[in-house]
Amino acid sequence: MVADGVGVLALQGAFGRHVEALRRCGADAHEVRTQDQLLTCRALVVPGGESTTMIKLLRAFDLVEPLGKLLADGMPTFGTCAGMILLARSVSDGQPDQLSFGTVDIDVRRNGYGRQIDSFEADLDIAAIGPPALRAAFIRAPVVERAGSDVDVLATHEDIPVLCRQGPVLVSSFHPELSDDDRLHRYFLDDVVG
Ligand code: GLN
Repeated sequence: MVADGVGVLALQGAFGRHVEALRRCGADAHEVRTQDQLLTCRALVVPGGESTTMIKLLRAFDLVEPLGKLLADGMPTFGTCAGMILLARSVSDGQPDQLSFGTVDIDVRRNGYGRQIDSFEADLDIAAIGPPALRAAFIRAPVVERAGSDVDVLATHEDIPVLCRQGPVLVSSFHPELSDDDRLHRYFLDDVVG
């Protein structure tokens, strides 16, 4: 099997807009719900949504182990919001059985910015993609409470990291797929996947 596609984990959440953004950037993007589909990926997006539901579905679809192996093997991955939670080293305010893969050395607090009603947008200056500022939507977003020394903080909002990279893994606490600004998807494809 040739692993040349860019997968978007499509168990739950905001996967459709990620597929569209990646395709606009020229990638061969497809939805991933099975182990076979996972094995066709050379890179993966783990979207926003609800991490606790995604974890239940990962378990139900027998994807925890194969996904954990691909992540441990260094698959380029972009986790947004709930996806950031799934890739974090540790998670506060999670469910008792909240699983996270520990792919990025950050500690996050689920819903740390408040409830749905506290959702907000912010303009982020991101040197990695250059000006102008990126308009970012934060929806029941996780707060990054600690970022390890191996983590590059690519953007902050009010001094809190909101976009981080550790080697082949990029994570954002906001939803980059909700705007028509594809620069972060392009950065992921060009600089992280390479
Ligand atoms: N609060 C959600 C969770 O815990 C994440 C929200 C989002 O992805 N927009 O999974």
